[in-house]
Amino acid sequence: MEKSQRTIERSVEIEGLGLHTGEKTRLIFHPAPADTGIVFMKKDGSQNGVIKPVIENLLDTAKFPRRTSIGDEGVQIHTVEHLLSALYSMEIDNVLIEIEGNECPGLDGSARPFVEIIKKAGIKQLNKKKNIFVVKEPIYISENNTHIIALPSDELKISYILDYPETSLGSQYASYSITPEIYEKEIAPARTFCLKEEIEPLKKMGLGKGSDYKNTLVIDKDKGPIDNQFRFKDEPVRHKISDLIGDIALFGCYIAAHIIGIKSGHAMNTRFIRKMKGLQEKEKIDIRDKVYSGDGVLYAEDICKIIPHRYPFLLVDRIVELNDNKAVGIKNVSMNEWFFQGHFPGKPIMPGVLIVEAMAQVGGVLMLQKDENRGKLAYFMSIEQVKFRKAVRPGCQLILQVELLKSKGKVARLEGKAFVDGSVVTEGKFMSTIVDE
Ligand code: ZN
Repeated sequence: MEKSQRTIERSVEIEGLGLHTGEKTRLIFHPAPADTGIVFMKKDGSQNGVIKPVIENLLDTAKFPRRTSIGDEGVQIHTVEHLLSALYSMEIDNVLIEIEGNECPGLDGSARPFVEIIKKAGIKQLNKKKNIFVVKEPIYISENNTHIIALPSDELKISYILDYPETSLGSQYASYSITPEIYEKEIAPARTFCLKEEIEPLKKMGLGKGSDYKNTLVIDKDKGPIDNQFRFKDEPVRHKISDLIGDIALFGCYIAAHIIGIKSGHAMNTRFIRKMKGLQEKEKIDIRDKVYSGDGVLYAEDICKIIPHRYPFLLVDRIVELNDNKAVGIKNVSMNEWFFQGHFPGKPIMPGVLIVEAMAQVGGVLMLQKDENRGKLAYFMSIEQVKFRKAVRPGCQLILQVELLKSKGKVARLEGKAFVDGSVVTEGKFMSTIVDE
C-alpha cells in the first residue's frame, strides 16, 4: 500500500471548554511540512513548550484517569484522544497545533467537530511517502478479561466489543475499515458516555467539570441516556472505537492491521501501543544487528545452481534467510572488486546500479528456488522508486533484503532494500518475469 503524507491547507481554530477541567481552551491548527508529525505548541503567557502526542510522552493513566494526557517536564495537555482520533482517521500526518489552555476542548463530546474543522482547513497532499507500520503476525495482550489483538491486514480496520451486563447498554459489537469517509460518517459523531453511577465518583475526583448531559451520554441502567438521545443505536461501541483510534495515534505512524479491542480502555490500549512500538524497534534492530556469520542457508555454489550469474557478475556471496516470500543475501564488498578499478580510481564507490543488480539477484534466488521455476531465468520488467541513500565503499557488508509483494503467473513484484550497518543504502521496487530459456 502506497500513500502520501498529508497536512491541512490553511490555518483554522476551534475553542470550547475542557471536559474535565471545565476551562476555556483554544486550538489553532497550522499546516506543517512532511515528517513534522503532529506537534502541540503551548502558548500560555510565560509558559512555552512543544510536545508531540506520542506514546513516549504519555502521562500515567492512573494519575490522569478517564482520558489520554501527554506531557513532559514543561507541558501537560489533557484529553487529546478525540482530536488525535480525528487527525489519525482523516489521515493528517503533519500539523502544528497551538494550544491555549491545558486540555483539548470537549465540544459535543465526540470527534465530529474536529473532523469538521479539518475539512474546513482543507487537506493537502505532500510529496512524501506516508510511514506505515505493517503488522505481519498476530500481536495480542490480555488482562482481567479484556483483550486487544492485531491481525495482519492491508489497511486499518477496527473491531470492538463492549459489554455492560445488566444495563440497557448490554453487549455491543461494531467493526469498520477506517477510511476518512467511513470515519466521518460512522465513528466521529459518537459521543463519550458514562453510567449514572459513575458521575459522583468522577466529580469527587475533580473530573468532568466541563461535562453535561449534552456532551456526555449519561446512561441510566434501565432507561438509557438521561436528557439525551443516541445518535446511533450503538453509539457507545462506536465511541469506544473512536477512543481506541485516538490511542493508536500515539504510535506515531499509520498502522496497517486489523485491531480488535474487547472491553479495552485507555490503560490497556496504551499498553498495547507500547508493545507494538517494541516490535517496531526490534524489527529495526534485527536488521541492524545482523552481521551474518556461521552457517549460511545457501553458499555461492548453491546460488549458482539457482541463478545463472557467474564471476565477475555474481554479486551475492551467500543467502542467509530464505522462505517463500523473503530472501536475505549478503555481499561482502572488498577492495579487490573489479568495478573499483574504474569507479573511481582513488575514490572507490560501488556503482548504485550494481547494488540494484545485487538485490535483483537475491530476488532471482527467491523466485527461482521454487521447484517449478528451477532452470529458468528471471528478467527485469521494470524498476521504480529506486533511491540511492548512502555510498557503499570497500569493507562494507551489504545486506540485501528482498520481499515478494505480489506474484501472478510468471510475473512478480518485489521490494528490495540494501543495508549497511543497519542503514538503508539503496531501495527500490522491481517487476520480474520468469522465462523458460
Ligand atoms: Zn472518548
